Amino acid sequence: MDIFKRYNGVNYCTRCANPLEIKADRENKIRPQCPACGWTYYKNPVPAVAIVMLNSASELLLVKRKFEPAAGAWALPSGYMEVDLSPEENALEELMEETGLLGDIRHCVGWFYGNSPIYEKVLSIGFRIDIRGGSLQAGDDAEDAAFVPLDALPPIAFASHRDFIFRETGIRPIAAR
Ligand SMILES: [Zn+2]
Repeated sequence: MDIFKRYNGVNYCTRCANPLEIKADRENKIRPQCPACGWTYYKNPVPAVAIVMLNSASELLLVKRKFEPAAGAWALPSGYMEVDLSPEENALEELMEETGLLGDIRHCVGWFYGNSPIYEKVLSIGFRIDIRGGSLQAGDDAEDAAFVPLDALPPIAFASHRDFIFRETGIRPIAAR
């Protein structure tokens, strides 16, 4: 990606508010830096978590997204990581917030590094989670939450979610939109 496009909107130092300069750092990588206080802006892939949960009838837990990106599309329960939670804690919290279900981590499905319409790149970590309790109910940021039979999966938002579903079920969902 063009570096000026990458750093579009990154104009001022978050420490001292001085205008930033886009120039080579000590490792010869081009980054916005503050000539006044030395602060450097590092752009990294944004970490996210996604949950693969199957019930005893082998139906897959999906949520219908209320907000962009992919508003109105079905996807795995998921979210961006909070700084003070581990990936596992994040996954369990997102599961509770979006679906009302409590879970136990079974294993890490893996990671998926992909494009983001907002952050350029996202590093998504998938977790297979077993149901421990709670009752299925769509949370505030979901229009709907449901267990869906694997032979009737709707189009699924996000390449990362389709990949995690494939890894855990052997079924490759079609892409939403
Ligand atoms: Zn500064």
